[in-house]
Amino acid sequence: MRCGFVFQHGLCKVGRCVGNQLWLARRGSVRVNYHGAERCTLPVHTMGEDRSDVKVFVVGAGLAGVTAANELQADGYDVTIIEASERFGGRIWTERDASGRAVELGATWLHGKAGNPLFKRAEKLGILPRPDERDPEDVDRNEDNDYWGLLKYVRSDGTLLPADDVRRVMKLFRSFLNELKDDGAKSSLPSSVGEYLDQRWQENASSIGPFDELIFQARKELECGISGCDDLNEVSARHFDGYDELDGENTPAPGGMEKLVAPTCPILYQKEVVKIQWGTSGVNIVTRGNGSYSSDYVIVTLPLGFLKQTVHSFFDPAVSEAKAKAIQSAGFGVVDKVILQVDYDFGYNSRVIACDSSAPTWMQNSFLYSGGTYHDTVEFWVKGSRALEMESLQDDVVVEDLLEVLRTSGVTGGVKPSPKKLWRSKWGTNPLFGGSYSFPGVNSDEQTFLTIQDPLRDVDSRCRVFFAGEATHPSLYSTMTAAYLSGMRAAGELRSTVDTLVGR
Ligand SMILES: Cc1cc2nc3c(=O)[nH]c(=O)nc-3n(C[C@H](O)[C@H](O)[C@H](O)COP(=O)(O)OP(=O)(O)OC[C@H]3O[C@@H](n4cnc5c(N)ncnc54)[C@H](O)[C@@H]3O)c2cc1C
Repeated sequence: MRCGFVFQHGLCKVGRCVGNQLWLARRGSVRVNYHGAERCTLPVHTMGEDRSDVKVFVVGAGLAGVTAANELQADGYDVTIIEASERFGGRIWTERDASGRAVELGATWLHGKAGNPLFKRAEKLGILPRPDERDPEDVDRNEDNDYWGLLKYVRSDGTLLPADDVRRVMKLFRSFLNELKDDGAKSSLPSSVGEYLDQRWQENASSIGPFDELIFQARKELECGISGCDDLNEVSARHFDGYDELDGENTPAPGGMEKLVAPTCPILYQKEVVKIQWGTSGVNIVTRGNGSYSSDYVIVTLPLGFLKQTVHSFFDPAVSEAKAKAIQSAGFGVVDKVILQVDYDFGYNSRVIACDSSAPTWMQNSFLYSGGTYHDTVEFWVKGSRALEMESLQDDVVVEDLLEVLRTSGVTGGVKPSPKKLWRSKWGTNPLFGGSYSFPGVNSDEQTFLTIQDPLRDVDSRCRVFFAGEATHPSLYSTMTAAYLSGMRAAGELRSTVDTLVGR
């Protein structure tokens, strides 16, 4: 069996012989030979029995980071989370209205129930809707019963969209998406989902009715919001089927998604990590303003948008070309939420407003949901360049635009309701995120998300830097479930690295 990994513990190096050797006592200074090649100073240490001597930093206090940290903390490791912002939760961001109801500016639905450990956690935490809070229209999406086809649509100029047309176009759209999952068709696919949909739409052009083009384009925009891209031409047609839809409905959490993130270890807030130096002697985490923290291991849970901007300078030594390429080729777009509470009762999803050219540019070709989760709110998902435009606008402009569309669409009887409160996200221009969630980019391949996940190994082949976060899950990327599972995985990888060292 191989002997003698060496790692940095605080300022002292410690070593261990795997197999018949033991870790020497606790925090003294003992000089040992390491295979004749390396000398190190051992603290007196009971590594192997005492995990509290293994120092772990987790970068990022989102769901992935907190999950990994909680796991390791429960195992007895010395864990600290380091977070750039002043809050934990990351892309889970629950605000509350005056009556304490949850308003989600990030993750909103638990996608799927079957085999989804996060759904189970949410159930245990009691944050899922009570039976009387369930939207009767919130039905399972499936091929024959397309969710989007069942909603009622009105144009922003007030024209009702015929329900039959909506149902037909939405169903057709879904059938095109389903075709992308057909393995037999793979070799003849164009590179992007956008190209494929346009091609299939043209092939069906003879049956196009007066509103079909608007419905089709708006549904494409909606699909961008679902995929997390700016444009469907950025999404790989060949790897579109890499995402596993878990069975069961998409469930919101009126109790607040924030409850899914419950850190049990210390968090250092407002410490933006700017560099991670790593090697056989451990990890040094450098923060803006030249603070630094040393540890034995680090788990990096940075959003893909942040990694894309920093990948060539953030790690020292730098990550491999393959990893840098994977980070660049995975897609990451901007999806924002704009939520306005008004003094009007919309009831259940009473109308979806398909914003056409009569609406301000940042709203065009998107859907405004009136009476979504709550009956007195309108909710808008806006993406790509339109999201960036919205992020640049003042609050009063955004509010006025929303109210005007409510008026022109006739949804509120031709009057502008009074606004009560506006919430909106700015994920695109927030440098800590650089966008919202990931998708398979046109230049990605089936290994992309796995390559992002790959730990960095030192010259002894020992993993030093582990990766977690939604963009490291090969089949559930973009979701909270991916973040949660990736945190569990990274904690497991670290645990088994340490266990291998101590011969457990
Ligand atoms: C608008 C929107 C809607 C969504 N809807 C859903 C949904 O309905 N269902 C679903 O399952 N998922 C949804 N998601 C995705 C889901 O929110 C994410 O997949 C998940 O929360 C990501 O968790 P994470 O831990 O991987 O990353 P994050 O939550 O992004 O955590 C990363 C943390 O790192 C911190 N950080 C960044 N840079 C630094 C730095 N340099 N130093 C230190 N800390 C840093 C950040 O502040 C953040 O706290 C949505 C996301 C958005 C934005």
